[in-house]
Amino acid sequence: MQPSIQWYPGHIAKYERQLSELLKLVDVIVVVLDCRIPQATVNPRLASKIGDKPTLIILNKSDLGDASQNKRWIKSFTGENQRAMLYDAKTGQGKAQLVQQIQALGEVTLQKLVAKGRKRRPIRVLVAGMPNVGKSTLINSIVGRKKTKTGHRAGVTKTTQWIRIHSDVELMDSPGVIPPQLDSPEAGALLATVSSIGDAAFDEEEIARFLLETIEGLYPGLAGRFFKLASDQTLSLERIAEARHYKLGGEQLDLLRTAQAVLSDFRHARLGRITLEHVPNHSVSTGDAEREKPQETNSEQPDISQ
Ligand code: GDP
Repeated sequence: MQPSIQWYPGHIAKYERQLSELLKLVDVIVVVLDCRIPQATVNPRLASKIGDKPTLIILNKSDLGDASQNKRWIKSFTGENQRAMLYDAKTGQGKAQLVQQIQALGEVTLQKLVAKGRKRRPIRVLVAGMPNVGKSTLINSIVGRKKTKTGHRAGVTKTTQWIRIHSDVELMDSPGVIPPQLDSPEAGALLATVSSIGDAAFDEEEIARFLLETIEGLYPGLAGRFFKLASDQTLSLERIAEARHYKLGGEQLDLLRTAQAVLSDFRHARLGRITLEHVPNHSVSTGDAEREKPQETNSEQPDISQ
């Protein structure tokens, strides 16, 4: 099942234009992805805009993603002119490595400038990503003060200014917004599961059903155990509503409340660390990220030990 999501083409065109302009100002682009849905948070059209600009892929919210998939995604996103690393913007763990990676990527550009007889200058960096992937939180974690606004919903980021984050590196403090793809209902549904799009744009019941189906395919039995269903019961919103006694009065099940609870439990990793897109068998990058359905059943359980 792929629920339909409402997008706003006008906004998307505006963000694409803005992004093209911002890209002209920088040497390195830091693309922030949500490690739970790394492909859905890549917009394939971005690749043509980035061209061969050195790119650092940040798999953010690493504290929420399946640790084994996190490692595999890092490998698959690493390529020529492109590095990848895990990050937890909430704690800022990995901040020093992040700055080092930017320096390493930007150094090549600076060396070329110097070779042409131009003066050495700081590397300029843009942080970009889809709404809610953690761009502002990441910038705050590097800058070390609450400079940019953060929030749990899309589209709270504004203002533009350069901030020196190292003697060699300047960061644009306003992140670039990467619009989602309009043409992939599955990517839209995945974005909705992690609340990357406004809650008004989708039906919570549909998304919760899609989420349960996806989790069951990748981590069989995990959700049933979490919601305390009997072992012979098929995972569904109805069975969860019964198990939790979410009723509207009488025997009618409160499916909206159940859907909201399921989404909240997933978003806060109460079911464990779950990645909804597993690494396909062939390698992916921002350049060739081909959408794949969540992979065949995987018996690995999410790592909830960390
Ligand atoms: P932006 O729209 O991309 O700028 O996203 P924000 O920086 O506003 O972050 C969106 C939400 O994700 C906020 O509630 C953040 O607290 C949360 N967030 C950001 N980074 C992380 C992370 O690494 N781990 C966790 N658990 N939450 C994060």
